[in-house]
Amino acid sequence: MLRRLPYGANYLQWDEMAELRGAIEDKALFRYISSGTSVSSRLERLVEERLGATRALAVHNGTEALRLALMGTRPSAGDPVYIPAVTFVAVAGAVLSCGLVPVPVDVDERCALEPALLPADAQRVIVAHMEGMVGPLPQGIPYLIEDTAQAMGGRHADGRHAGTAGYAGTFSFHHAKVLTSGEGGLVVVRDPDDWELLRSYHDHGSDREHGKYPVWREGSFYGENFCANEAVAAVQLQQFRHLDEILASLEQHHRMLSTELPDRPDIRQVPRTDGDVKVSVRIELDSPELRDRALNELTDKGLPCWTLDKYFLPGHPVVRDRASVYADGFPWNLDDGSERYRPRSRDGFRATRHLLARTLCLPLAPELDAAGQAQATKEVAATLAAL
Ligand SMILES: *Cc1c(COP(=O)(O)O)cnc(C)c1O
Repeated sequence: MLRRLPYGANYLQWDEMAELRGAIEDKALFRYISSGTSVSSRLERLVEERLGATRALAVHNGTEALRLALMGTRPSAGDPVYIPAVTFVAVAGAVLSCGLVPVPVDVDERCALEPALLPADAQRVIVAHMEGMVGPLPQGIPYLIEDTAQAMGGRHADGRHAGTAGYAGTFSFHHAKVLTSGEGGLVVVRDPDDWELLRSYHDHGSDREHGKYPVWREGSFYGENFCANEAVAAVQLQQFRHLDEILASLEQHHRMLSTELPDRPDIRQVPRTDGDVKVSVRIELDSPELRDRALNELTDKGLPCWTLDKYFLPGHPVVRDRASVYADGFPWNLDDGSERYRPRSRDGFRATRHLLARTLCLPLAPELDAAGQAQATKEVAATLAAL
């Protein structure tokens, strides 16, 4: 079985694109000139309802969503932002591009930032729910951002949706995510005043009345243009109509594969919680050699699998070499060597590096029917049993 497309991409279909047709017929792909309520606004209302978020704002991608959430905290240049040591480099990039300094914090066995490692006075923290695993939330952080790019539809133990429990949550609709519009992003915030600030910044720092040219009043600030495209928002509305079905099918496939995996002492399943989005079964093997053998065997058979090695930020050139396009190294050059910029780990990230070298993810396929999932399960289980 070769799984060609990830998750939501399988569900894209022409006959469900009524909102896209409507936007084209209205000849209005810019959200602030639509003749009725814009598609982008309808998407934002749907997300608020579906996720129980106070306010949502559509932007172009998940990285922009992170940037916007960070700018909404009204930081000072060079402020540290504590980020997971294991996540996509976009998190570090978003922090740096806001003129802030990313400080990696070590993670637990599920690759979630460990709250206990944060300094007591941490102001800005980004947690990332990697591979649908909804991580614990540090308490008492004024600006806690949940990067939910990989966990759309996930829930915390208390029932709140991932992305809605902190100051802000960010989402991505990149091709590889649970729902997709090729590129796309969303930010949700808890405080309506923060939403006003974010809306303004994402529209050149302006106020805007629908259908009119923006205005800048006393107290305005500069901004950028992150305004969503109506055609993209239309595709996201179509995708949301499949979210429950995708989550349920992933649950079913996860149950099958996690039950059928061979019972070997050298292969351990990383535990998943009820609220996780079951994008994969993650396994931890006894040694890097065994992991690489499993990776090669599965790949040779055309069975999809991937590692998390690429997410190890302390080893990533951008973080390791403090890379920047600025001639003076900005904003890394604002790190004055004080305690608050020190990477947070008990062992210099040694155990995490070793964990990642032994980790393998077996992605699940919501688009397959039960028979297809059973067949895929059998092939993966047999390959691992024969190692
Ligand atoms: C994909 C991803 C992003 C970036 O989202 P884009 O829409 O691709 O910009 C950020 N963080 C994590 C954890 C991601 O997986």
